[in-house]
Amino acid sequence: MRGKLVVGNWKMHGGLRQNDALFADLRSGWNPPEGRRLAVCVPFPYLWQAQAALSGSAIAWGAQNISERATGAFTGEVSAAMVAEFGCRYVIVGHSERRTLFAETDAVVAAKAAAAMAAGLTPIVCVGETLQEREAGSTEAVVARQLDAVLAELGIRIADAVLAYEPVWAIGTGLTASPAQAQAVHALVRRRLRSVDAADVAVLYGGSVKADNAQALFACPDVDGGLVGGASLKAAEFLAIAHA
Ligand code: PEP
Repeated sequence: MRGKLVVGNWKMHGGLRQNDALFADLRSGWNPPEGRRLAVCVPFPYLWQAQAALSGSAIAWGAQNISERATGAFTGEVSAAMVAEFGCRYVIVGHSERRTLFAETDAVVAAKAAAAMAAGLTPIVCVGETLQEREAGSTEAVVARQLDAVLAELGIRIADAVLAYEPVWAIGTGLTASPAQAQAVHALVRRRLRSVDAADVAVLYGGSVKADNAQALFACPDVDGGLVGGASLKAAEFLAIAHA
């Protein structure tokens, strides 16, 4: 469903005491303008805390990863159903850090998206090219390949997912795609979604989004909001982005 959505990705940051302060600041500072949604995706151990702090508020919460498997002898893994028990609405799948540092393939990402949906979660499926791929002129091919793997697995169920275009070269680097660069890839993603009758999927931009660049990015016709890493750890900055 389109409509503006901003999601914080805390990555492997947090601590009980600082989370309490951040949740409280977000809760008190978020008066959602019509049609705008806000969510935070926190590390697994803090899902209970997010649930306790944000229940009854206008802020949703979620996880940053799940196993593609439902249950079994997979030491250290966490299933979608487990995450759902903590009231999560979202789970990020296919973040570039998972693809590169944890060797997640397109097929694994697609299977994770399907596992999320089977548990009633909304997967936020990340796609995006590396700097090398952009410089080689293969941005479109890479994004299309990543997206097609998920489309092949989900089919029309993609309509209930969220997508995030995150150029890898812009994540955590301070480099941001220009609005024109972001719009060009978002338009490609939208065209592919339209071809399966799912043009109404929210497509977020992620990669060094800050309060001072959010407005220009979010004004692009095919950008429906943002997936925000570092800047989601500071309530004032994150709220400024969400209001942008
Ligand atoms: C992210 O982790 O998804 C992200 C976009 O990070 P950052 O905003 O810090 O670039």
